[in-house]
Amino acid sequence: MQFHKYDVVVVGAGGAGMRAAIEAGQRSRTAVLTKLYPTRSHTGAAQGGMCAALANVEEDNWEWHTFDTIKGGDYLVDQDAAEVMAKEAIDAVLDLEKMGLPFNRTPEGRIDQRRFGGHTRDHGKAPVRRSCYAADRTGHMILQTLYQNCIKHGVEFFNEFYVLDITMTPGPDGTQHCTGAVAYELATGEIHVFQAKSVIFATGGFGKVFKTTSNAHTLTGDGMGIIYRKGLPLEDMEFYQFHPTGLAGLGILISEAVRGEGGILRNADGERFMERYAPTIKDLAPRDIVARSMAMEVLEGRGAGPNKDHVLLDVTHLGEDVLESKLPDITEFSRTYLGVEPLHEPVPVYPTAHYAMGGVPTNVDAEVLADNENTVPGLYAAGEVACVSVHGSNRLGTNSLLDINVFGRRAGIAAAEYANQHDFLELPEQPAKLVEGMVNHLRTAEGGERVANIRTALQETMDANASVYRTEETLKQALSDVQLLKERYGRIAVHDKGKRYNHDLLEAVELGFLLDLAEALVNSALARKESRGGHAREDYTTRDDTNFMRHSMQYKQLPEEEDPNAPLGLTGFRSDIRLEYKPVTVTRYQPMERKY
Ligand SMILES: Cc1cc2nc3c(=O)[nH]c(=O)nc-3n(C[C@H](O)[C@H](O)[C@H](O)COP(=O)(O)OP(=O)(O)OC[C@H]3O[C@@H](n4cnc5c(N)ncnc54)[C@H](O)[C@@H]3O)c2cc1C
Repeated sequence: MQFHKYDVVVVGAGGAGMRAAIEAGQRSRTAVLTKLYPTRSHTGAAQGGMCAALANVEEDNWEWHTFDTIKGGDYLVDQDAAEVMAKEAIDAVLDLEKMGLPFNRTPEGRIDQRRFGGHTRDHGKAPVRRSCYAADRTGHMILQTLYQNCIKHGVEFFNEFYVLDITMTPGPDGTQHCTGAVAYELATGEIHVFQAKSVIFATGGFGKVFKTTSNAHTLTGDGMGIIYRKGLPLEDMEFYQFHPTGLAGLGILISEAVRGEGGILRNADGERFMERYAPTIKDLAPRDIVARSMAMEVLEGRGAGPNKDHVLLDVTHLGEDVLESKLPDITEFSRTYLGVEPLHEPVPVYPTAHYAMGGVPTNVDAEVLADNENTVPGLYAAGEVACVSVHGSNRLGTNSLLDINVFGRRAGIAAAEYANQHDFLELPEQPAKLVEGMVNHLRTAEGGERVANIRTALQETMDANASVYRTEETLKQALSDVQLLKERYGRIAVHDKGKRYNHDLLEAVELGFLLDLAEALVNSALARKESRGGHAREDYTTRDDTNFMRHSMQYKQLPEEEDPNAPLGLTGFRSDIRLEYKPVTVTRYQPMERKY
């Protein structure tokens, strides 16, 4: 086992982690631990853009942006946080520009902006151009820019290090402080303990609980899982976003930028059906509304294709110039994966699991909450792993690249300031005990169950039972399926017993996190007997502000005493969850009926 000591440790090298590291790196000794090579993080797959009310091409202001974010999130947004994000958006974009990001430009040389769903002028009057972009490779450009700047500021990277646990130590006041992270080095199989004064989690989302998803294979919710297993809460897990335009049958994302540039959704009859569901902004309604409308068209028999199971995205009127200059990658995806030529024929699309609105609860300084009132000293989270909550029950397109920059920056500053004001705390006596136990167990387990089979079964039940539309019945089915799968997970075997590049072993660990998170998602979805944002119940079709204008907070019940026979760190069998709620912060916009 190897020991390391840094002021600040950042877990994750996506947009949030690297934006944090740029700030922390200028103020303190900072290390980034990442399971992927930094520029392979999922942020790099983001296509459409990052929004800010720059008003470069038409009138706009941050107050409209705040309002859109709150209404878009179906009023479950914490309004103080949304205001912080919309205000700081402008500097967040300009910071990236100064760091060297090559944004698309207007003829006058300003950063160009385009339309995206739910972003409007003057509180919903018409769509507004708010998204800054670099063709349809905005995330790629952000990641490259941030990585170069991390190197410039002397941030140290530990690539292909899987963090599997954090260490907690009681501080002088008796409360549990986060004092480090424990990682498994993929190349060698060695375990490393990183002692730190503060730790920032920026590990991204968990789209792989679903089968049809836009998310990369690596998005297995490790960070949420690690923190949840410490008895700390997860917030609003029932709110998972289904992006309207996944390539039908595959889930690969076709960015909303396509509709921002004028693409139109049509049903089998060629009808522009969004005119019926959102008469003012039509195809540019927020994602929850568009995804539900698409599912409804299919349910009511107006779906396209031989199985009538998808709708069509029509861009044939946009012309070759727009497609090639502003949407080149997306055009290529349709050709490559579906053999469809978007210039001449519409592209088959259907909703795909895309984004976790919920996650590790934090305040606006990215400090992780231990409960509704208290924070965990030394522990921070930002990006998709976190829930601030700026997205409420439904995130608007381009607000995530914004979130990772605004709250990544805030996390980096707060964590470094904390580190500079505090001394190192002792690590617990055996800091790597849990990870060693987990790894040894998996390397030697001889059970008959296979990781791939359990993962497939998990993804199938989640797609079938916890997707765009849900009912009591489907959610109960999903919950009992997931709990059965957790039992089977206790009997898995990993075939590769080796140390070097043992992906088998790590996939087994990742599956454990996915199972925990799927269970949390379904559990809170069952309890939320209303429809709001990304959570649409067929049996409770309206929003119920009287009973459910509140965030869910779920805690995993930890055993009072460690069971000496239980495989350490594996979730296996325990499914006791405590579900509590937290009030929504409302500062200036009272919930209203949500019409577009
Ligand atoms: C296809 C696609 C297109 C998108 N397009 C847009 C868009 O146009 N606009 C927009 O606003 N949003 C978009 N989004 C959403 C947005 O890109 C993501 O929400 C955001 O980039 C997440 O950033 P992140 O830094 O939180 O996580 P990620 O970029 O996912 O990075 C996670 C990091 O954590 C590390 N990590 C994970 N687990 C561990 C572990 N156990 N140990 C160590 N390291 C770990 C990984 O190595 C990685 O570096 C898109 C998402 C997808 C999937």
